Amino acid sequence: MKIEKTLHSRIKKMDFNNIDFGNQYSDHMFCSEFKNGKWKNSIIKPFGNIMFSPTSLVFHYGQAVFEGMKAYKDQNEEVFLFRPEENFKRINRSAVRLEMPSIPENIFMNGLKQLINIDRDWIPKNYGQSLYIRPFLIATNGVLSANPSKDYMFMIISTPTDTYYKYPLKIKIEEKYSRSAPGGVGFTKAAGNYASSFYPTRLANEKGFDQILWTDSSTHTMIEESGTMNVFFYLKNKLITPKFNDNILSGITCKSILSLAEKEGFFVERRNVSVSEIIEGLQTGKLKEAFGCGTAAVINYFKTISYKGNDFDLPNLAEKKRISLYFKKRLLDIQHNRSEDPFGWRVPLKRYF
Ligand SMILES: *Cc1c(COP(=O)(O)O)cnc(C)c1O
Repeated sequence: MKIEKTLHSRIKKMDFNNIDFGNQYSDHMFCSEFKNGKWKNSIIKPFGNIMFSPTSLVFHYGQAVFEGMKAYKDQNEEVFLFRPEENFKRINRSAVRLEMPSIPENIFMNGLKQLINIDRDWIPKNYGQSLYIRPFLIATNGVLSANPSKDYMFMIISTPTDTYYKYPLKIKIEEKYSRSAPGGVGFTKAAGNYASSFYPTRLANEKGFDQILWTDSSTHTMIEESGTMNVFFYLKNKLITPKFNDNILSGITCKSILSLAEKEGFFVERRNVSVSEIIEGLQTGKLKEAFGCGTAAVINYFKTISYKGNDFDLPNLAEKKRISLYFKKRLLDIQHNRSEDPFGWRVPLKRYF
């Protein structure tokens, strides 16, 4: 792989005491091109603009998929990735569904590891902080007829992050709009899934809600996800999460919480979750907690769930008593190398140079 290091590092301008997610990018980026049926020209180069033909299919028909993952430091500033294999497999599941080429494992993993190694200094040091990594695959050519592109570009960029969404969320059970539908692309990280959620999310924001609790597209009676997070309910001492299907993205955070919970003897259920049982749980007080989870926010608990114009508040538990925050700490401890890693999720990043 070609490596072109920057001569003008921006790291001195980065204020690690005041991390503004997505506003400062690390010095380098990784690019690899797919042309004539082959992957070629893998390179790490200074972060900067890219140029494609205006006919590129990414601009017209939305052939674009992405991933979200993080690199963490421990107290000795050793660097760790968390289950990167899962992101690798998932971006290729997304790619297949969007009729895009699969990324070879060595290109994904070498690009990722070398890039993060070069930009090590961009990984914040504190507990809960990390470097958010964004791999993405886009169609870079095409003609304006609606056919899949022949050329693609796989890239990785990264941005320092604190754990965001620190406040408890007020969410609304959606009864009109949908994020995904059976047979569709809801299980993929297709860029268009996000585009189509912005409008209903803004409408919800204007009514004072932080996020939407998505329901199934045909009946709006079954719960799917919350915003761009998977969702858990702690109902009658059981930890319940909607079973992954076509409509639900198989989140790595969600899967990790399930594994930890099962190992630690919690009662766990992966099954269809109806709106009516959640409303009943809210009315009877049997729903102790509800929370969303994903790489970006880790875990974010809900304070209010609204349905058909009625706001239902969740019990106002002390933070120490919250199962959501217990699992948040369990995950962060593993990610930051502060506890054992019973499942082998941590991948130490060797120093390559
Ligand atoms: C990325 C994403 C998640 C969370 O997945 P993680 O692997 O835990 O980060 C959940 N739902 C949607 C719709 C997503 O795009």
